[in-house]
Amino acid sequence: MKYVSTRGQAPSLDFQGVTLAGLASDGGLYVPEVWPGFTTDEIAAMAGLPYAQLAQRVMQPFVGDCLTPERLLQLCEQAYGRFAHAAVTPLKQLDEQQWVLELFHGPTLAFKDVALQLLGLLFEEFLARGDDHLTIVGATSGDTGSAAIDAVAGRAKVDIFMLHPHGRVSDVQRRQMTTVLAPNVHNIAIDGSFDDAQAMVKRMFNDAAMTGRFGIAAVNSINWARLMAQVVYYFAAALQLGAPQRKVAFSVPTGNFGDVFAGYVAAKMGLPIERLIVATNVNDILHRALSTGDYSAGTVTPTAAPSMDIQVSSNFERLLFDCGGRDGAAMAAQMQQFDATKALQLTNAQRESAAALFTSARADADDMANAMRWAHEACGEVLDPHTAIGLHAARSVVGISADVPVVTLATAHPAKFRDAVERATGVRPSLPARVGDLFTREEACTRLPGTYDAVAAFVAGRATPRNALGNG
Ligand SMILES: *Cc1c(COP(=O)(O)O)cnc(C)c1O
Repeated sequence: MKYVSTRGQAPSLDFQGVTLAGLASDGGLYVPEVWPGFTTDEIAAMAGLPYAQLAQRVMQPFVGDCLTPERLLQLCEQAYGRFAHAAVTPLKQLDEQQWVLELFHGPTLAFKDVALQLLGLLFEEFLARGDDHLTIVGATSGDTGSAAIDAVAGRAKVDIFMLHPHGRVSDVQRRQMTTVLAPNVHNIAIDGSFDDAQAMVKRMFNDAAMTGRFGIAAVNSINWARLMAQVVYYFAAALQLGAPQRKVAFSVPTGNFGDVFAGYVAAKMGLPIERLIVATNVNDILHRALSTGDYSAGTVTPTAAPSMDIQVSSNFERLLFDCGGRDGAAMAAQMQQFDATKALQLTNAQRESAAALFTSARADADDMANAMRWAHEACGEVLDPHTAIGLHAARSVVGISADVPVVTLATAHPAKFRDAVERATGVRPSLPARVGDLFTREEACTRLPGTYDAVAAFVAGRATPRNALGNG
């Protein structure tokens, strides 16, 4: 399998290459050159497989020759063996139509673990083949950071620098990052928003002085391998609900458009998805883009669902590229326009093609609290704020027929956002035993001003230059 950049200029890479890369060198994102597909019979034959086996089958076409099926299966068994639920991503029924897919049974209590536990192993596997050293630089609105740090802490040949917006992540989220005291883990709290942090990371990927010295890699969902791993649970849920004979809709609490883009990929591969509902909070750029064609960034409003407090959704570029006829030059021009003005208009082709599968909905603070209360009072389920936004969207979207099950992706454990959950439902969820003594452990974190130069200097002073470990 070859991967091409959405902006048409960067060299194509194989799966190992895109896994170890950050942004493409032309500033674009890598996507598979063609979407692999499964026949209805092939999908039917996946029903009932254990999660790790399903993951190997769904991901193998993307991995190509970079890993044998046996090795990929071993890595999946290792990654998903760390989950606290034997089903890995269990599906729960709320009412006749509504379901939730619990993606938070990994080590750091959010769905990011599903992809990052595997990505950590892929880094190790591919780095062992050469003598390069990887410098992971990431920005987090909370959950990516903890999941990525857990996935690479203490691993050889990898350093991780994780930026989070100071004071804008929950205390559980912060402690899950800052209490990991491995020498290859560097936490940075910047003065600014998540979008500011993400912009700095993107700038570093485009900074020749930095990329020339360090092998800079991404753990944000601009990394293709993450999206690939997330495709699997769409198959897992749909198969349980009767696919491929029956269509299923999904509602996805969305920030950077990674998780829901994985649903789009599942549909491209042949999974019968009726609708993908993009659920946003009041930071609703994606809702506006999909409903009116206007993709224009406002300022970020902090909410009780901080992992969705995003105005610039990196992975939206992948959708615009695919829905716009895969024209790299046109995509580069459209994104240059966006970088210059913080706004772009979708073309008619992009809008129509996206509208064939996507619907969107926005939830404000009351909508979110009401959804949490309904789930608790009517179904006995305690949901986190992000999941509640997804459920609000799932229940409010019109036009999905009553016989189509709607699966809301439960993206975080409610205990990760205990204060917001308690405010809405009166229930204070307790932290699962697997996070242990989180609140008594020592923290390590450096606070930096929100300027690129400060962050770049910090990284350059601590990272290991590429090929420093050998002569390659
Ligand atoms: C990251 C995250 C999201 C948003 O996912 P994207 O892939 O960025 O759209 C939603 N909910 C939670 C809990 C998250 O951690």
